[in-house]
Amino acid sequence: MAASQDHPFHLTNTLSRKKEPFIPLNPPHVGLYVCGPTVYSDVHLGNVRSFLTFDILFRWLRYLGYSVRYVRNITDVGHLVGDEDAGEDKIAKRARLEQLEPMEIVQKYTNGFHEVMRLFNILPPSIEPTATAHIIEQIGMIERIIANGYAYVVNGSVYFDVPKYAGKHAYGELSGRKTEDQLANTRGTEGQDEKRSPLDFALWKQAEKGHLMHWPSPWGEGFPGWHLECSVMSTKYLGQTFDIHGGGMDLKFPHHECEIAQSVAADGTAPVRYWMHGNMLTVNGRKMAKSEGNGFTPEELISGNHKLLERGYSPMTVRFFMLQCHYASTLDFSNAALQAAEKGLQRLMAAYEILKGLTAKTPSAPSDGKESFDVETLAKACHAAMNDDLNTPVMIAQLFEGVRAINGAKAGNIALTQEQIDILRGLFSDMLFIALGLKEEAATKNEEGLDAGLMDVLLGLRADAKNRKDFATSDLIRDKLAALGITVKDTKEGVVWERS
Ligand code: ZN
Repeated sequence: MAASQDHPFHLTNTLSRKKEPFIPLNPPHVGLYVCGPTVYSDVHLGNVRSFLTFDILFRWLRYLGYSVRYVRNITDVGHLVGDEDAGEDKIAKRARLEQLEPMEIVQKYTNGFHEVMRLFNILPPSIEPTATAHIIEQIGMIERIIANGYAYVVNGSVYFDVPKYAGKHAYGELSGRKTEDQLANTRGTEGQDEKRSPLDFALWKQAEKGHLMHWPSPWGEGFPGWHLECSVMSTKYLGQTFDIHGGGMDLKFPHHECEIAQSVAADGTAPVRYWMHGNMLTVNGRKMAKSEGNGFTPEELISGNHKLLERGYSPMTVRFFMLQCHYASTLDFSNAALQAAEKGLQRLMAAYEILKGLTAKTPSAPSDGKESFDVETLAKACHAAMNDDLNTPVMIAQLFEGVRAINGAKAGNIALTQEQIDILRGLFSDMLFIALGLKEEAATKNEEGLDAGLMDVLLGLRADAKNRKDFATSDLIRDKLAALGITVKDTKEGVVWERS
């Protein structure tokens, strides 16, 4: 944990709205819970950004020497269409549409989710529990909440009594919402008539006739409310109070606010010490969502097969693009930004390749007149940026300073000692592959190599045509390449080409 001593790890706690030093309950152990997906549809890129944020947190905590138990759930029951307390279950609805069993839907989209996580090099959690495997524990928690007087039973359903809870505890402390404002904003929805207050939320719902997913309970056949599973699974595996709970910003209310209320009402303890929320991915300023028609899937992104995409991008380009923005800021998606990220990533990877072969003797230019470079300060600045609330954009900017030094050393303008080169090599390897979780992409490398090879073939044909004085053909090749965005120039040193 040496790296953390100068600048201890700080993170922004949504609960206190402040950047705080991170002090785990039982170091070196850290408990981390992140709300996982509801497995009823393909994952889109906005979801990927959220899981990437907590992948960076998981990686950095481990890099600092902590032993992290990372729990990320799978929601496979109880999340209703529209996030309300009434209506159809998202999974049951999809099962009906695809004419499959609900558990076939769950398996299908869980497999798809895992594939996407692997594609973007997002590490699997330590435990990945499902809501349907924790029905007994959920019933137990409801019983404790009822026993403590914070829930009531109506027609086989159980509701959390928000006004009663808010009278004694700080309901709204996480989201900053006041119950008066919430009351003013509530609209009459189906099932509301059973609730004593429109603020109340379902802990257990009676299964109506034809409802596909239901379990026996002390209140009859039914299914759990959406917020309950996370309270149950986080505390079951991480303890009644644990270190960090994360999720997308859209989960702050009601989902996470309800999680706090459930734990306090059932067990008298606030469950989480640090709440962290990742920001949204937007496209041209609008939230990325299936319903907006701008929520493309990772497959579409890689193939470029979507009306908003000029071409395809590799998974690591996308990962790097997202990490060039701080997790708490909104990130706007554009082709120009992705292409800039692609270039930036290639520069970093190219510098790392040079670094592998660099020695204090390369090149054997005279040592006087060379600029020096402070490698130790660079390494400290990288660690300090990550310790400052996972500031990946600042850390990446520091790595580009390192690229300048590496290229300068190769060109003979900057002098690096062997020790400095070794430090740089370790730093680049740690930051690129461990902290940022990037990986060298065979696909992009081959593509690049293939591009260069194809260009050699084409330019060879063009040179042949020129030699035969077949200028029609040589001009045709040049013009067709120009139409593809590739400029060919005849220079004194020979023929060069570049993408515009
Ligand atoms: Zn959750």
